[in-house]
Amino acid sequence: MQLSIETMNLEFVRKVEALSGSSVRRCFQCGKCSAGCPMRSFMEHPPNRIVRLLQLGQYERVLAGRSIWYCASCETCSTRCPNKVDLAAIMDALRKCSWDAAGHSKESYVQLANRLFLENIRTYGRQYEMRLAAVFNMKSGQFLKDFMLGPKLITRGKLKMFHQKNKNLPEIEKIFKRIEELRKKGEAP
Ligand code: SF4
Ligand code: SF4
Repeated sequence: MQLSIETMNLEFVRKVEALSGSSVRRCFQCGKCSAGCPMRSFMEHPPNRIVRLLQLGQYERVLAGRSIWYCASCETCSTRCPNKVDLAAIMDALRKCSWDAAGHSKESYVQLANRLFLENIRTYGRQYEMRLAAVFNMKSGQFLKDFMLGPKLITRGKLKMFHQKNKNLPEIEKIFKRIEELRKKGEAP
């Protein structure tokens, strides 16, 4: 069953469908996705309601909420869907849309952490936890967040002050460049 096209914000739904490779309109609200979602209790909108809000053109509520950021990409919803709606891919597409959207979502700290994580990988070829935590705390305005925990982790050798770059850094840079090229061509989210 497909909903009337007039009831949807077509432009946004089409974008999500193109990014995810999955139909949004095909969902008939059986709720099987939400019944199996392990992150359901953390979300203000369960997975099936996310799809419903998209169908109704209320995507701003979806982008401003935390549900898409709590999704663990476990793909249970996609596996359970009797209508072959790939909800895990839709969640991925929505995170991308939220990233690009103007203004901050409630979970903009997640976006910041994601960005810094990738910056570290590109610069060092591996994760540099000390830098990640320090820059995240500064940029999020939580200067004293790990004030007590940091020294304990350092003395126990769980957090390194200094970091060596991965020797395969040129190869990693090639991967980032390739993704940028694909994005320019609209072939990657
Ligand atoms: S399982 Fe599929 S059809 Fe059912 S509500 Fe979820 S996305 Fe919609
Ligand atoms: S992929 Fe996300 S929305 Fe789907 S079941 Fe897993 S956590 Fe829930």
